[in-house]
Amino acid sequence: MPVSKKIPPALHYRIEAVDVHAHIYGVTLTITQPAALQRVSLPVWIVGSYMVREFSKQLMGIRAQQGKRNISISQLDKSTWQIDCDTSQALTLQYQVHAYDNSVRTAWLNTHRGFFNATSLCVQVDGQYSASHVLELQPPKHASDWKVATGLTPVKVDRKGFGTYSAPNYDVLADTPVEMGNFWSGHFKVMGVEHQFVVAGAPPTFDGGRLVNDAQAICETICSFWHGNKRSHIPFERYVFMLNAVGEGYGGLEHHNSTALICQRSDLPRLSDDGALAKSNDGYTTLLGLISHEYFHTWNVKRLRPAEFTHYNYAKENYTELLWFFEGFTSYFDDKLLRRSGLIDDAQYLRLLNKTINQVLQTPGRKVHTVAQSSFEAWTKYYLQDANSPNLTVSYYTKGALVALCLDLSLRQHGVRNHSITLDHVMRDLWKRCKAGPMQEADLLEVLKELTGRSWRNDLHAWVHSTRELPLEKLLTAHGVTIHHDPAQLAQALGLRVVEERGVVIKQVLNGSPAHAAGLAPADEWLGVEINNSLWRLQKLDDVLLYAGWGKKVTALISRDRQILRLSLTLPKVKEHTTWRLSIGEANKVKAWLN
Ligand SMILES: [Zn+2]
Repeated sequence: MPVSKKIPPALHYRIEAVDVHAHIYGVTLTITQPAALQRVSLPVWIVGSYMVREFSKQLMGIRAQQGKRNISISQLDKSTWQIDCDTSQALTLQYQVHAYDNSVRTAWLNTHRGFFNATSLCVQVDGQYSASHVLELQPPKHASDWKVATGLTPVKVDRKGFGTYSAPNYDVLADTPVEMGNFWSGHFKVMGVEHQFVVAGAPPTFDGGRLVNDAQAICETICSFWHGNKRSHIPFERYVFMLNAVGEGYGGLEHHNSTALICQRSDLPRLSDDGALAKSNDGYTTLLGLISHEYFHTWNVKRLRPAEFTHYNYAKENYTELLWFFEGFTSYFDDKLLRRSGLIDDAQYLRLLNKTINQVLQTPGRKVHTVAQSSFEAWTKYYLQDANSPNLTVSYYTKGALVALCLDLSLRQHGVRNHSITLDHVMRDLWKRCKAGPMQEADLLEVLKELTGRSWRNDLHAWVHSTRELPLEKLLTAHGVTIHHDPAQLAQALGLRVVEERGVVIKQVLNGSPAHAAGLAPADEWLGVEINNSLWRLQKLDDVLLYAGWGKKVTALISRDRQILRLSLTLPKVKEHTTWRLSIGEANKVKAWLN
């Protein structure tokens, strides 16, 4: 049937759970006005997770029809198809997608729960990026108690949320995941803006009221961080948290008005808890940090974002040197804003920061890779880690957070005419300068100069574009933090990361360490030590100290590829290697920085 010119061209995706036991979604896409040679493609990556994941490997059985006529499809590459069409007739594509990855990045379907990102289910229609994208969610036949949660705009939905939703373009569709199932759901408002918090997989002891209260405190702190009390400036009309509680797992992915999170069930607050601060449960503090992190991203990376991400290319890697800013600064603020929300105290905050500092200081890769390089190479280095990763790269999350710390503390020392400048001011001015859109490092430098009257080019160059050590000790001490240099654990002193299940197996050897000098290698099994002509079997790494002791020379007996090797190893002296422990030295100075 010819299409009336009055109807705007639209794309309609109908999603059905066709086989929950085989974990298969059925997708029917109707393209009202197809091109003569219509191309469609499935993304190879999802925005926010910088790795080529080849979502098309789960797509099968694609076929095309116009009216009742089947038409042939040519596959052009791993994720692109082309259909030879009659442009006067609507084109219907049908295919199926296998969905059994219980992460926030792809899609999942079983008898209990459905979840998907459109990047896994919805092909992009060439030439119609800006058309209205309609998503129709069919209620599943196998379960009558399923509901829907999504940040998409409802058009016509039933009381459980099944029906049609719309997105103004493909980017928004791709950036708005959908949760389905019989989940727990809570609501709260932040400056009048509706927030929904859904939790799948919660145990019967789950204290939803507490989670919602704490999430609300975090969201209020973050909204006022960016906009003071100006409600009209909040850049979304509704926000949805989708948390999947599982036996083992952790992660989150930010979206433009929602986020998908995974946590361990045991980290959820429980009804039997006394409702004290999160200090009773480190896992819950970590979950609150994740909520804070992903929500902060709604401003910092979803709107304010690298200039290279002005238009996403879903077909290949999208490179930027700025992840140290977007992930690192977000990591700095996530815990800091938990402190400001009153959910942790100063000492707890310092413990979290302490962890980040020791992670960076225990990564030799910081001496060979800058955070700008590690951002750019995230696709191959951070996301494709192996045993050697700590030697060749540094995390833009952790070192980026420390760059933010150094910048914040330096700014606070600097001040202008007795008026304290902080990193908060910088973030807000960047937001305004870049009009909540694409930004470059030059914008950050410009904002810093405007706020302080001096150039920060050399500082940022040293911290971001060189491998020089950050001035952490000097800056933290100046802000009331005492740094203790405690003797390191044996594994750290040797430069080893091991698993101790049945004996000691080496996972990683850090460059420049005693283990490196001795020639130990990943996958070696460390069987025992020989000292003074006696041989001892190792059950765990610390047994070395029982048989030999700090500062001694030993022979390490190693099993490698079924050969037994003898390697000479000099154990470090007890205080030769240290780790940092932070404590509050001058409480008023720490308070001034953290509150
Ligand atoms: Zn992040």
